[in-house]
Amino acid sequence: MEGIYGVFVFIIGSILGSFFNLCIFRIPSEESIVFPPSNCPKCKSNIKKYDLIPIISYLILRGKCRNCSEKVSIQYPLIELLTGILFTIIYLYFGFSVELFLYLVLVSVLIITSVIDINTGYIYERVSLVGIIAGVVFIVYKYISSGEMLTYILGGVAAGGIIAIIILLTNGMGWGDAEVAFLCGLFLGLSSSILMIFLSIVLGGIGASILLVFGKKSRKDAIPFAPYISIGGLIALLYGEGIVKAFLSYYGLY
Ligand SMILES: [Zn+2]
Repeated sequence: MEGIYGVFVFIIGSILGSFFNLCIFRIPSEESIVFPPSNCPKCKSNIKKYDLIPIISYLILRGKCRNCSEKVSIQYPLIELLTGILFTIIYLYFGFSVELFLYLVLVSVLIITSVIDINTGYIYERVSLVGIIAGVVFIVYKYISSGEMLTYILGGVAAGGIIAIIILLTNGMGWGDAEVAFLCGLFLGLSSSILMIFLSIVLGGIGASILLVFGKKSRKDAIPFAPYISIGGLIALLYGEGIVKAFLSYYGLY
């Protein structure tokens, strides 16, 4: 049964992913994400309902607009696929629960914010705000259901705070990165938040080195950091407890 629900969650994820594509392209240009409906950026023709099937429509149309044959960015099916896969992984891990719904909001915010950061180098407050609101709802729910609250507040403060200190010392990141770290921390609790920051800095270092080696970026270019916080945050969400325990017991602390 879980497999059938998994497929269902994947389909929901990929449909939402196609809405996230719209957000990713429209938020930086200050366009409405509600109106007008999806259209071709070149010929402006509205995309037909039957051409809006996530991933499949792209394959059927071979990545071209049905009306004018303008190439459609590969980013569209990739975001749909990524959203479907991440939604399914998180569902399989947490099962149907209130937490699952809030984690899916978190993942959605991270996908939109990371891809906009990669495309434009900017992080938009209204995207982060959705994540912060979901984080506050998550904390309230945790408090009601288990009495736990402090670790999540500390997680947000610690994650946002560490990035803020890095910004003040090095100028290497932007305040948007601190917002993203803060909102992830609200969901993770203190120890997983610290793990997330550690992972994101390591992954960011590796990513930046690769881009430097292949000459895609120079030393002066700012690297978009939100994707690394997001990857670190997702690893910490799924495996944080286990990794932190293994680490502590290795040093005889647990
Ligand atoms: Zn067109």
